[in-house]
Amino acid sequence: MITLKEALQLSKDELNKFTNNLKTKIDENKELNAYIDVKYVGEGIPIAIKDNIQVKDWSVTSASKILQGYIAPYNATVINKLLDAGLSPFGRTNMDEFAMGSTTETSYYGKTLNPINPEHVPGGSSGGSAAAVGAGLAIAALGSDTGGSIRQPAAYCGIVGMKPTYGRVSRYGLGAYASSLDQIGPMTQNVEDAAILYDIISGSDEKDSTNAMMDDKVVPNLNAARKLTIAVLPQYIENASDAIKEAYAKAIQALKSQGHTIVEKEMMDAKYDISAYYITATAEATTNLGRYDGVRYGNKVEGKNLEETYFKTRSEGFGDEVKRRILLGNFVLSSGYYEAYYVKAQKTRHIIKDEYAKIFQDVDLILSPVAPTVAPKFGELSSPMQMYLSDIYTISVNLAGLPALSLPIMKNSDGIPVGLQFIAKAYDEQTLFDGSLSLENAVAYKA
Ligand code: GLN
Repeated sequence: MITLKEALQLSKDELNKFTNNLKTKIDENKELNAYIDVKYVGEGIPIAIKDNIQVKDWSVTSASKILQGYIAPYNATVINKLLDAGLSPFGRTNMDEFAMGSTTETSYYGKTLNPINPEHVPGGSSGGSAAAVGAGLAIAALGSDTGGSIRQPAAYCGIVGMKPTYGRVSRYGLGAYASSLDQIGPMTQNVEDAAILYDIISGSDEKDSTNAMMDDKVVPNLNAARKLTIAVLPQYIENASDAIKEAYAKAIQALKSQGHTIVEKEMMDAKYDISAYYITATAEATTNLGRYDGVRYGNKVEGKNLEETYFKTRSEGFGDEVKRRILLGNFVLSSGYYEAYYVKAQKTRHIIKDEYAKIFQDVDLILSPVAPTVAPKFGELSSPMQMYLSDIYTISVNLAGLPALSLPIMKNSDGIPVGLQFIAKAYDEQTLFDGSLSLENAVAYKA
């Protein structure tokens, strides 16, 4: 597959030819179920779009039954930015329903397969985007990351996935899951393409009140030769699987060989991250999903009166995982439990933020696992709790609002990719990409 950088050099004719071939290739790989729908909306470089990002006049469903038939009335800001740069939305990719999940199994459209080995999950919730890029069915894709949904599927499928600093990329036109955590980001074949796509989609937007209104770019200053100080976390990774530990050791060696300085740091037990995240995310999701009532959006199941219409629409429209989160979110926000759960989670969130700030006084980047294991096989995660625990290394980054990039390091003995992530200071995407380029060069991962 050509890279985004190469695609930017193609003539119109070459691009049309390429895009037609791509459509054929997608048809030949239907069983992967990476795309929900393929439609070329412009004449630009085709980019795959997660099904929770609005493209005007195109169906957008967040892979939920409740949004079947809903047509986007306007473009998300990131889509306008793509179009302005000569890129074009090409297909909507499969995802966990409302981005809630870690395997893309909760989609109304059925599961997506991992392109490296179809017995394994592609990760989630941006599993369709990761599978499309990993299978050579997309040059690049957009995903969204609330608690790891770009970085984790990227790691599971052997590609690069980047979550920008909170506020860097406009959320206008993104189907909201947890508004204080959500960010759209690039999913690409390599680090340089991620930087290119990040530059295109990031920047100021009046339509998003949480936008950082910053327009600095990383590509003009990309520099893999910078010597950085990088924190590693020996204790924090103790519960990760052997393959993750092996990749971690390999990455440290590679970074040393590039002349970076490695220092050992510690983080508090990540079990607190899980609690703080699942309380915060479900509380916000409960509020955000309140708007799907059968009156204003998508599917409606008529009842005898308005209350019954709400009840039937939501009972039939939402899947089990989404319902579980709505129940949990209402519980932690309810008057008797608000202080005990929600307020405590916000305090924990501050502690996590402070902890990162303290580490970043001494270092430029932190090297961390993305997930505690490689992509599990379908059916291996037997309970919701087990699934939530697999987010242990990604969610603190969202709680602290930091940028992070996941990149492939090696394959395990079964040929399954192992990815790791770099985490940077807020708004320091430059250092994130510089360090990631250096690591990518040093490990020389072969897809
Ligand atoms: N797996 C996490 C969750 O289910 C993260 C999802 C995401 O980042 N959208 O909440």
